[in-house]
Amino acid sequence: MGKVAVAFAAAAVVAACSVAAVMVRRRVKSRRRWRTVVEILKEFEEGCDTPVGRLRQVVDAMAVEMHAGLASQGGSKLKMLLTYVHDLPNGTEKGTYYALHLGGTYFRILRVHLGGERSYLDVQDVERHPIPSHLMNSTSEVLFNFLAFSLERFTQKEGNESNSQGVKRELAFTFSFPVKHTSISSGVLIKWTKGFEISEMVGKDIAECLQGALNRRGLDIHVAALVNDTVGALSLGYYHDPDTVVAVVFGTGSNACYLERTDAIIKCQGLLTTSGSMVVNMEWGNFWSSHLPRTAYDMDLDAESSNPNDMGFEKMIAGLYLGDIVRRVILRMSQESVIFGPSSSVFSEPYVLRTNSVSAMHEDDTPELQEVARILKDLGVSSDVPLKVRKLVVKICDVVTRRAGRLAAAGIAGILKKVGRDGGGGGGITSGRSRGENQMQKRTVVAVEGGLYMNYTMFREYMEEALVEILGEEVSQYVVVKAMEDGSSIGSALLVASLQS
Ligand code: ADP
Ligand code: MG
Repeated sequence: MGKVAVAFAAAAVVAACSVAAVMVRRRVKSRRRWRTVVEILKEFEEGCDTPVGRLRQVVDAMAVEMHAGLASQGGSKLKMLLTYVHDLPNGTEKGTYYALHLGGTYFRILRVHLGGERSYLDVQDVERHPIPSHLMNSTSEVLFNFLAFSLERFTQKEGNESNSQGVKRELAFTFSFPVKHTSISSGVLIKWTKGFEISEMVGKDIAECLQGALNRRGLDIHVAALVNDTVGALSLGYYHDPDTVVAVVFGTGSNACYLERTDAIIKCQGLLTTSGSMVVNMEWGNFWSSHLPRTAYDMDLDAESSNPNDMGFEKMIAGLYLGDIVRRVILRMSQESVIFGPSSSVFSEPYVLRTNSVSAMHEDDTPELQEVARILKDLGVSSDVPLKVRKLVVKICDVVTRRAGRLAAAGIAGILKKVGRDGGGGGGITSGRSRGENQMQKRTVVAVEGGLYMNYTMFREYMEEALVEILGEEVSQYVVVKAMEDGSSIGSALLVASLQS
């Protein structure tokens, strides 16, 4: 071999070696990056851990906070608000009634016709629209004019057939934000939640605002009740099944109410009702306990939200937030590694990943996770995300939703404990019921509604599974969780009907 040929061969060997070295280096680097991502996941998973022992601590904390909130105003992060609802619809109601529901994402209008028997409940003409986002930080006038206009359109559409002309329409205003009531039909807004920010409305009477807007439009509609959405769900639950004592909503936000004995509402001494009880709106979204498994992602979400240091429980369990927790974990991973390719900055945009997409990815049962790939592509991730990264995304969704479902169950068990229906010996912690009275044998129905619960099967399953884990097989046989589709709005209309009879 000539000298030139030897030099050439040697150069070729060197080149091949360096290509191999680059490839090995790349592989090592990629393995290291993957390890980083796996560590982030592991740390997150550990931070979200909810063993049953921890859930029981949350149960106890919920029951204790409920007691504190009932004992004195400002005694707890749980406001435990009076609703002035003491008699729930029982099936004898008759007539045609309306509900207008302002939720966190949707507003709904519907009409119910009741024939005086439980089986005669005809829900007519349900309209459901997304709340135009500009209304969420507009003015009270703009918001209520919009609602009045929507009601006008609704009633114009029905013509003569369902409501004979000249009869005033009786309306429930279902309002999914915290209100301090002075009667069943009046109350002032305490604060906004779920991203709404119309500050001049805080302290204003909500029912009066709507009635004013309806009057200005010349509509013959009477706002007969201002109803929290959970109270609406409880009303529908009770209408169908008088064992219903608790209602919980898992939608954009989350909240719960339950039937409490008036003598246990210590902050309102001398409160008298014919039934001896009153529905209490817990505003449980603001519940907090050091036992809640909070991660750095939760803290950042809170700090960057429109209501920092507020609604801590809601931010771990409700539909508005679950997608954003998942997004934050993906963002951190994509910052530490390039697993989502160069366009991973799409995850920097707050709330870009919605909980609807989280459930669609989580429940993707295609072998190659095509739905996950499609959603990531729609979000703007340009490169093809490998299967193992798609699996990682599903795992993050699972961790976030499992924690949410299990904490939701602990919240419900906390209420059951407070009212002595958790199998803990009868009296709850403070309800004033005598110990030994076997409350446990009582069947207890929990009415549940909201888009998250109704549409996200895995959330529902994690919640129900954890409830059995917390209460035990035997006690959970007496606890029935019942889904109430559109329960908030339908139930509020039923409540107005019960006020007339
Ligand atoms: P609102 O909160 O306005 O009363 P809903 O009770 O219908 O409305 O809840 C809507 C919320 O429920 C959505 O914002 C979303 O967070 C959640 N949601 C709706 N559909 C799904 C779904 N398929 N998967 C997961 N979450 C969902
Ligand atoms: Mg709702």
